[in-house]
Amino acid sequence: MVSVDQTIQLIRTTGRNAQGQPAEACSPALAKGPWEFDGVLQYGPGSSMSDVIPVGSPRQGALPLEYQRAGVEELHERIRAAKQTLGDRVVVLGHFYQRDEIVQHADFLGDSFQLANAAQTVPNAEAIVFCGVHFMAETADILAQPHQQVILPNLAAGCSMADMADIDSVEECWAQLEALYGTEPDAEGRVPVIPVTYMNSSAALKGFCGRHGGIVCTSSNAETVLEWAFERGQRVLFFPDQHLGRNTAKKMGVPLERMPMWNPRKPLGGNSGDELLDARVVLWHGFCSVHKRFTPEQVAQARAEFPGVRVIVHPECPMAVVDAADEAGSTDYIRKAVAAAVEPTTFAIGTEINMVNRLAAEFPQHTIFCLDPVVCPCSTMYRIHPGYLAWVLEGLVAGETLNRIEVPETVAADARVALERMLDAKPKA
Ligand code: SF4
Repeated sequence: MVSVDQTIQLIRTTGRNAQGQPAEACSPALAKGPWEFDGVLQYGPGSSMSDVIPVGSPRQGALPLEYQRAGVEELHERIRAAKQTLGDRVVVLGHFYQRDEIVQHADFLGDSFQLANAAQTVPNAEAIVFCGVHFMAETADILAQPHQQVILPNLAAGCSMADMADIDSVEECWAQLEALYGTEPDAEGRVPVIPVTYMNSSAALKGFCGRHGGIVCTSSNAETVLEWAFERGQRVLFFPDQHLGRNTAKKMGVPLERMPMWNPRKPLGGNSGDELLDARVVLWHGFCSVHKRFTPEQVAQARAEFPGVRVIVHPECPMAVVDAADEAGSTDYIRKAVAAAVEPTTFAIGTEINMVNRLAAEFPQHTIFCLDPVVCPCSTMYRIHPGYLAWVLEGLVAGETLNRIEVPETVAADARVALERMLDAKPKA
């Protein structure tokens, strides 16, 4: 068994996190190799381990034994050697939430959209190895050049939040909303409802938005995108993350009672017709299990222990946590806020543990810790391990493309429309 996650190892051997504070891991299974879960229909140990994985989710076949049994240093050496052989024919992208053992091999580090854009800056790369999760690899494929192939090292690296909104449920919701609202614009030319999907969604949902006059948003531009949508529609259907939708709309002044939640298992999503007619934002019932772990009590605890602490959380956190924090923003916002702090500062951060630990290591002049004392990484990011990275890179050296993610052009064309609308949406002056 190869255990390479330094964060988990530290906790298991010392009971302390990277900042020397007492901590525990949410599951001892995190110390296992991800291949131990490939035959099991679950997201794997970590924040999403209790979520229900949809039937038909991509499954990863067995990782060849030589990669399961290789030592950490051997895997790093093989990855470096394969990258050197491939040269600029390959680019490796690493998401902020990846473990350090993967990030050290990434040519670019960033959030999902930054990485999809980064891939476009290396047109010579024939292969884009995306060390992130499934929807990110799909977005990279949608935006890639025709000669580029996108590879996800472990097909089991999905996203439990993205999986909470599937295309069939959204189509069914849309049919019910159209029956209720009709399709005619009002006197100001605004259609009854505009669909907005978070970047963290399948290509099929991005395509749905492209086909229905809708748009994609990221956690950095959600407010600008909602402004765009309100100019064109009387209301918004926002999926899959209820928290990003609620936190953003609330900041824009939309009252909570005008944000009903849509539960796809109930008629009219569990709402009355009047509630839906009065809605400004209909929120899908999805959430991120990493960010759902943060609580207002953790914020209070941080303030009690560290007077003057600066609390920054991700807008995928529940509203009560965002309200209790000093600031809320995307991973990029959090990183820039820490980097911009001139005086030594204590930061309590509400986002994924791998990113928080990396910030702490990168900015030792500050005290930086995760709001959640339990170390519980994103279950699906955890599925990417150096063993899988070595496997797909050596496959490329041997002339074989393993784990290719390919979005059908019919879907990709519509999804591109929704992504381009997002790129064209400008903040109000
Ligand atoms: S952190 Fe949350 S939204 Fe991001 S990949 Fe993991 S489960 Fe999905």
